[in-house]
Amino acid sequence: PGTGKPPRRVLLKLSGEVFGGGAVGVDPDVVKSIAAQIAEVVLNKEAEVAVVVGGGNFFRGAELQHHGMDRARGDYMGMLGTVMNCLALQDFLEHVGVDTRVQTAITMGQVAEPYIPRRAARHLDKGRVVIFGAGAGMPYFTTDTVAAQRALEIDCDRLLMGKNGVDGVYEADPRKDPSARKYRSITYTEVLRQRLNVADPAAFSLCMDNQLPIVVFGLSEPNGIARAIRGERIGTLVAS
Ligand code: UDP
Repeated sequence: PGTGKPPRRVLLKLSGEVFGGGAVGVDPDVVKSIAAQIAEVVLNKEAEVAVVVGGGNFFRGAELQHHGMDRARGDYMGMLGTVMNCLALQDFLEHVGVDTRVQTAITMGQVAEPYIPRRAARHLDKGRVVIFGAGAGMPYFTTDTVAAQRALEIDCDRLLMGKNGVDGVYEADPRKDPSARKYRSITYTEVLRQRLNVADPAAFSLCMDNQLPIVVFGLSEPNGIARAIRGERIGTLVAS
């Protein structure tokens, strides 16, 4: 697949795990470094950036269910966890002079705006970073799926999946097979044919059905987030 021109508007998906720096809660140093990279490109007006933040550093509904909790209630706890990550990111972005808005799929007027897609698009037009929290507001969904949906609805031209511990799509799991090679680019159909793990299946099929290119890249690569937002060749590009 080709890379085309530099992206105008992107959606950056950050897993909750990265926010915690491997522990439960938020690691301020990590969030600060993420914010600095986003600020670098947004303040230069190189691209408009929307962010979907996961919540795995707090709770995952499926794990709570293994410990006997009701699945849907656990999922709501997971969604609320994402909002804490959103507020942390908002705070560090504002420290470095970036205007932000948090929009949540579960209404909580004191902390965030509700998710209003056209309003989100307006914020982005004005150079604000919009951070989407509380997933889809629905149990049994994942933040990957929401990232794909938001990217489509607010007209992003790329979905950037920042990963912890892996820096792209490999022909086999590089943690199990160190000789596995990384793809620089790959088509959606090849990903399916080889059953490669790019995003969860619902997220992947939304992207494929609507030809939204995905960039899978490593969050530990130096300046990886800034480079991915700019459209530099980093990680793996998945497209048609
Ligand atoms: N979640 C949910 N609906 C959503 C998004 C998230 O129920 O639309 C819950 C689910 O329990 C999930 C948790 O929130 O495990 C944290 O989100 P996710 O696992 O996607 O975060 P990440 O893996 O990116 O940290």
